[in-house]
Amino acid sequence: MTADLRAMTLDQAEAFALAQGWPRFRGEQVWRWVHDRGVRTFAEMTNLSAANRDAVAAVATLGGLTLAEAQVGKDGTRKLRFVTHDGSSIESVLIPDADRDGKTTICISSQVGCAVDCQFCATGKLGLKRNLDTSEIVDQVYLSKRLLAEAAPERRLTNIVYMGMGEPLHNYDNLVQSLRILTHDKGAGFSPRRITVSTAGLVPKLERLGGEDVRPNLAVSLNAPNDAIRDLIMPINRKWNIAALLAALRAYPLAERRWITFEYVLLAGVNDSVGHAGELARLLRGMKAKVNIIPWNPHPEAPYERPTAAAIDAFQNECKRLGFPTYLRTPRGDDIDAACGQLANRSNGEAIVPLRIRRTGPPPPPPVD
Ligand code: SF4
Repeated sequence: MTADLRAMTLDQAEAFALAQGWPRFRGEQVWRWVHDRGVRTFAEMTNLSAANRDAVAAVATLGGLTLAEAQVGKDGTRKLRFVTHDGSSIESVLIPDADRDGKTTICISSQVGCAVDCQFCATGKLGLKRNLDTSEIVDQVYLSKRLLAEAAPERRLTNIVYMGMGEPLHNYDNLVQSLRILTHDKGAGFSPRRITVSTAGLVPKLERLGGEDVRPNLAVSLNAPNDAIRDLIMPINRKWNIAALLAALRAYPLAERRWITFEYVLLAGVNDSVGHAGELARLLRGMKAKVNIIPWNPHPEAPYERPTAAAIDAFQNECKRLGFPTYLRTPRGDDIDAACGQLANRSNGEAIVPLRIRRTGPPPPPPVD
C-alpha cells in the first residue's frame, strides 16, 4: 500500500522515511517539495537522484485534486471547480481583498456537499456525498496558489477560510490534519491567525477543537436571534440549541486579541427586523464577538428574498446603537454564484486553459544525492 505524502505532516513524513530504511532528512526533503514548493510530480523533486525519486514513487503517492474550471467575476473573485479522484466536483473561491494591496483570501471546501441542510444554502441542497481527505483539502490551497501565480502574479494568498462546501467539524480529523500541515513554517507557513474555520455549531467538536495544538480563528453561522427562528432555518439547532452553542463558545480558549465572528445571513421577513437586532445584541452581550451581516445571496434552491437596502441599514444601525461591532459583508462573486451560500457546482462552462508550471518561492535546498 502506498502512502499519500500530501496528507502527511512533516513528522509523519520523517517517520515514513525512517520506516522505509531511508535517512530522516529524506522525509523532510520530499515533504518540502510537496508542501512548500507545491510540486505535482516526483519528477520535479530535482535534488533527489533519479534512483531515489523512483524509490519514493514506488511507495508513496501525491493525492489531491485536478483543477477543472475557473470563472472570474466582475469584482475579480475567482470560483474554482476541482475534480476529485472519484469524479466529484467541489468548489473554492479566491477573493481579492478590496482594501489591502495584493492580499487574497481563499475560501475552501471540506466536504463534497453537506449534511447540515441550512435552509438558505445551495450547498446544503446537494446533501452529503463524502468527506474530503486531507490532501484534497490542502490541495485547494496549493493549486490556487499556482493559479494566482499564473493569472494574477501581483496578488498573493494570505488568508484561508474554511467556509466553502461542507461543515468542517463534520470532517474533524482531516480538518485538524490540514491545519497542522498548512501552518507548518517549513511548508505553506500560514499563521493560525490567518485561518478561520466556520461552523454551523457542532458543540462537542467545538469543545474538542479548543484543546488542539493548532487553533484557528472561529466563525459561527448563527443567523437567528432565537431558537424559534434558528430551528426553522438551521435544523442543527434542534440538536444543539443557541444556549448550548453559546456556552461552548464562552468556554472556547480564545487567544488574546481574538474574537469570535458570528455570521448572520439576513433573510427578508425572517430574521431582519430591528427587534431581531435587539435580541441578537442581548444574546451576545459580554462575549468577545463581532457580527458579519450577510444580506442573503439569492439562488434558485431556496425560497427566501434579500432584504431591502433600508432594512439592512436599519438592522445594522440598531446593532451599532446597542454597541457591538458589526460588519456588512458586500457580496463577492455573486455574478458567478461564488458568494456566501451559493456554492453548488454550477458552471458557465468556461474551461480553463491548462496551467503552465512556474516555480515560485525560494530556491530548493541544495542537492544531496
Ligand atoms: S451553510 Fe455551511 S453548514 Fe449550512 S448547509 Fe451550507 S455548507 Fe452546510
